[in-house]
Amino acid sequence: MNRRNFLYNSGALIGSGILANPLDAFSISQKKTWTVGEIMDAFIAQVPNAPFAQTVDTIKIGSPDTIVTGVITTMFTTMEIIKKAIELKANLIIPHEPTFFSGQDETDYLQNDPVFRAKYDLMAENQITLWRNHDYVHRMQDDGVRIGVVGDLDWNKYYQAKSPILQIPKTSLRDLIHHIKTKLGVPAMRYVGDLNQTCTKVLLLPGAVGGRRQIESIIKEKPDVLVCGESNEWETPEYVRAANEIGIKLSMIEIGHSASEEGGSEFVKKWLNENMPGLPAFHIASGNSLQIF
Ligand SMILES: [Zn+2]
Repeated sequence: MNRRNFLYNSGALIGSGILANPLDAFSISQKKTWTVGEIMDAFIAQVPNAPFAQTVDTIKIGSPDTIVTGVITTMFTTMEIIKKAIELKANLIIPHEPTFFSGQDETDYLQNDPVFRAKYDLMAENQITLWRNHDYVHRMQDDGVRIGVVGDLDWNKYYQAKSPILQIPKTSLRDLIHHIKTKLGVPAMRYVGDLNQTCTKVLLLPGAVGGRRQIESIIKEKPDVLVCGESNEWETPEYVRAANEIGIKLSMIEIGHSASEEGGSEFVKKWLNENMPGLPAFHIASGNSLQIF
């Protein structure tokens, strides 16, 4: 009996409920390679209403037909990340954020720029394919980035699916900042508010969702504290300052964009481990470009 028939007839496996369809197990066990396109299709297939007609999640360099030797997930594809990919023989990089310094990764104005050329040419010379995964991981049910970040913050027990609100045990803003700094490995964070304010209701909005959405969420949810990646200084921080000026207890913490969503890259790496068994996948944090002096 060949393997296919064995599995098909195996009451033990079917009865265990572990394998809904033993033929899937057969095809997975026989599958030795994945192309970039197959990985993309598998990821996108689990996102409601996908693929999207409008998305920034496109291949920025390389080809969907590339047979993948290994994957690096990260927030930002820095030169260091590209060099790591070469070293690890990973020819697919999946960053969350842009590679060429703007939301749409426009490169028409950068063609003769040495900074652009260095990044692009290093990937081209080493036949690296780069697929941005931003919209799809956020639009999973539940948001894969938030799940990753909540895990990093050790807040799983306070998390309710699909909600940006977490009720944490009462703590001061000072201690909350310390907790986030420690868990996410961030040396310093900016905040607005009173360090002695008691916080229990946290509004967690990783990344940069925009001032209006941050403020609308504050109005709707009335949290003690907004924890976000970043915001324009003239938007949400001024709103929070004004709220304090009229006596409303409200504060905000800016983690920094990269650290606030790095958990999402860990989430994608784990997804690869589960769905592409045997394929080497690495999550490498790209860190913050902005240093503190
Ligand atoms: Zn994001």
